[in-house]
Amino acid sequence: MRADWPAQMYIDGKWTDSVSGRTLAVTNPANSQELARVALANAEDVDRAVRAARKAFDEGPWPRLDPLDRGRYLFRLAERLRKHAENLAMTDTLNIGKPIRDTRSFDVPAAIELFESYAGLADKIAGRCHGTNPECVMFQIREPLGVIASIVPWNYPLLNAAIKLGPALACGNTVVFKPSELAPLSALMLVQMADEVGIPPGVINVINGLGSEIGSVLTGHPGVDKISFTGRLETGRAILETAKDGIKRVTLELGGKTPTIVFPDAPLDHVVNGALTGIFCCLGQVCVAGSRLLVHESQHDELVDRLVAKAKSLRQGDPMDERNHLGCIGVESHLRSIEQHVARAVAEKARLLIGGRRPEGPEYERGLYYQPTIFDRVTPDMAIARQEVFGPVLSILTFKDDDDAVRIANDTDFGLMANIWSADGGRALRVARRLRAGKIAINGGGWFRANTPMGGYKMSGIGTDLGLDEAIHEYTGNKTILYSIATEKMAWPE
Ligand code: NAD
Repeated sequence: MRADWPAQMYIDGKWTDSVSGRTLAVTNPANSQELARVALANAEDVDRAVRAARKAFDEGPWPRLDPLDRGRYLFRLAERLRKHAENLAMTDTLNIGKPIRDTRSFDVPAAIELFESYAGLADKIAGRCHGTNPECVMFQIREPLGVIASIVPWNYPLLNAAIKLGPALACGNTVVFKPSELAPLSALMLVQMADEVGIPPGVINVINGLGSEIGSVLTGHPGVDKISFTGRLETGRAILETAKDGIKRVTLELGGKTPTIVFPDAPLDHVVNGALTGIFCCLGQVCVAGSRLLVHESQHDELVDRLVAKAKSLRQGDPMDERNHLGCIGVESHLRSIEQHVARAVAEKARLLIGGRRPEGPEYERGLYYQPTIFDRVTPDMAIARQEVFGPVLSILTFKDDDDAVRIANDTDFGLMANIWSADGGRALRVARRLRAGKIAINGGGWFRANTPMGGYKMSGIGTDLGLDEAIHEYTGNKTILYSIATEKMAWPE
């Protein structure tokens, strides 16, 4: 285990303590031990970081670089991350209790791929020319927006940092990045690597701090041009409030209540694996967690039996043990919130099939463990079917026909993602077009790639960081240039 995580903040290309000298303990949720102490920013630190990013944008080389060179920096950063992949995977696993098999196989490789993908985007940012007016050449160019305030949650520490930084940097912006106060370590390692590959001072600034103390200071700072936020719906609302005075651009990637619709013709072996991975991977602490399973009533008993049998076979324990499928909950307050959701579901008469409590045994005593939990006989009006639990809790609902499935699936304030399982491609596509969600996975096709946007419908957010055209749209501004080639002078005021 590494003991030398950077403890300071990174502002204007230098490692620095907080102005107040305050620090914050970062703990391992699997055993409650302190992993590190990091500097804790106050409003003055936020101001220092925004000023550094502002200066780097207004006067520095980054927005003016040949885009190919910007891409080369990002490629070098990706290479550096690859070299330290194991260390990064261990860091996120120790910090948030996610199984090492997941951070090794997904979180870190996906973060590396993101930087590679956006490195290649840097020189593909193009404008448009409108050739319809004989006396004027009219064209649009896309320019970097300015200083981006990027704020992320704790559930994918390194990957969330890559999602925010990759497109923003490729498009020529400078960034003040705020990791979650609960999981800042891998972002600090990332920026150390950015420093080593020579990304100029002020281009990336990383501040640690409590959202409740410095969140609105950062989002309301007049030096910030755009806010890119990922996190809870309630925090997103608070951010919109602070953004309004400065009329700042805002991207919000918020929560979800993903439905998984299983039609009777679906291959059940695949469905069982897909549904369990969808809800229990990262113990459901995923924005797109498939928390509502919609099963056709004719298939209910067979599918439920198979799901329960397979769920019981999942191994839960020390997240650092490669054999374990399930680790622990990342944050104590979330564990309490999961317990409250489960208690309410029981009170509302959902039928608890498995889980519903912390596992027992000496290996679980000091960690934030919670068992995978399945509720049957859930109805769309129950809180467990409506609210984001952000934990390992699956709700099973039944439907009669396609219309009924679509109605239940859409009966939520969220619209981040939906899953469909069916052997009938036409039916799957027809239903996909009726679902109100930003991303639809058919037969397990939920792959995460830099070039596929993730944004949500309804209260799941505004805009998206990922995607190619979408990223350019989000992270550049449009400038229209009207160049007269007229040979006659203007008629008026003669
Ligand atoms: P959170 O909203 O509590 O915190 C997210 C970040 O916001 C943290 O860095 C926090 O310090 C900061 N913050 C808190 N208050 C703030 C304020 N007033 N102003 C500015 N920043 C503030 O979320 P969380 O508990 O860390 O993460 C879980 C949530 O994130 C879930 O709802 C999940 O669905 C969502 N999420 C969404 C996506 C997506 O792509 N849509 C991805 C991952 C997680």
